[in-house]
Amino acid sequence: MSLLIVGSLAFDSVETPFGKIENALGGAATYISLAASFFTPNVRLVGVVGSDFPQSAFELFKKNKIDTEGIEIIEGGKTFRWSGRYHKNMNDRDSLSTELNVFEKFSPKLPQNYINSDFVCVGNIEPSLQRLVIEQAKNPKMIVGDTMNFWITGRKEELLKTIKKLDLFFINDTEAQLLADDDNLIRCGKKILQLGPKNLVIKKGEHGAMLFCGDQFFSTVALPLEKIVDPTGAGDCFAGGFIGHIAKTGDTSFENLKRAVLYGSVMASFCVEHFSIDGLLDLDSEKIEERFNKLKNISQVN
Ligand code: AMP
Repeated sequence: MSLLIVGSLAFDSVETPFGKIENALGGAATYISLAASFFTPNVRLVGVVGSDFPQSAFELFKKNKIDTEGIEIIEGGKTFRWSGRYHKNMNDRDSLSTELNVFEKFSPKLPQNYINSDFVCVGNIEPSLQRLVIEQAKNPKMIVGDTMNFWITGRKEELLKTIKKLDLFFINDTEAQLLADDDNLIRCGKKILQLGPKNLVIKKGEHGAMLFCGDQFFSTVALPLEKIVDPTGAGDCFAGGFIGHIAKTGDTSFENLKRAVLYGSVMASFCVEHFSIDGLLDLDSEKIEERFNKLKNISQVN
C-alpha cells in the first residue's frame, strides 16, 4: 500500500562521544522514508531542498524505490541545516543550531498522484505545514505524526491543532514531559491522549517504547546494543519502521500496532550504530526479521 511522507530533508552536523560529522545527509523525512522503504515499495516523499542538496541523495532515494516527485527544489535556495551535540549518556542532546532556510517559505503541494495515498506520515516540520499535508490527503487509512521540542516550545498552539488530527502521535520521553508538563510518563501518556490523537507512542531511547491505545497499553524494551555511535534519526527510523510495517500489512489492529512498535525499535537500532544514515545502507529484510525475532523473544516467558 502507498505511504506518503513529509518532513525535513537536511544537512546535519553532529557531535557525539564517538566523533563528529559535518553537513551529512539527514532530516526527518530522509530517515523515515529510508526506514519505511525496507517494508513497502510505494513510498512517496514530500519536502523542500535548495540547489545545494546533492544528487547522490536523490540517487539513494531512487535506489530504495522512494518516489521523489514531491520534493520541491528551490533554485539558489539553501537546504535546512541542523546541528546537535550529544551528552555522554547519549540520551540527552543539545540542539546547537536550526537553520530553516528553504522551509521558511515552504507551502507543501501534493502531486496529484499522492493525494490518494493509503497511509500518511507527517515527520518533524513546522506543525501548520504538517496540517497542510494532512488536509490535502484524501481518506487515508491512518495518519501518524512526530514532532520535536523545537516546535513544542516555539509553536505549541499550532502543534495542538495538528495532533488532534493524528491517528497516532510519536513523541519521545523528554518531549512528552515537556508537552504534558508532568514527570511521570504514564500520566504524560494519558494527558497527551486527551489532547486528541487516537493513539500514542512514547519513545524512550535505549529504554524502549510504550504504546497507548485508549485503555490498552503495550511496552517493549529496546534492542540491547553495546555501542551507540549516533542517535540522530533514531526517532524518525522508529516512525519509518512502524508505519512501513503498517503500510505493508494494511492492518491497524492493536495487535499489529504492537508488532509495528517492535519493527520501529528494530529500525532505530540499526540507525544508532552509525553516523548519519549509514546504518540504513546495507539492510535487507532478513537482517530486519532477525532483530525483530530477537526483540520479540527478549521479554517472552512461557
Ligand atoms: P531525531 O533524532 O529522530 O529526533 O531526528 C533528527 C533529525 O531531525 C535530524 O536529521 C534533523 O535534521 C531533523 N531536525 C532537527 N530539528 C528539526 C526541526 N526543528 N524541524 C525539522 N527537522 C528537524
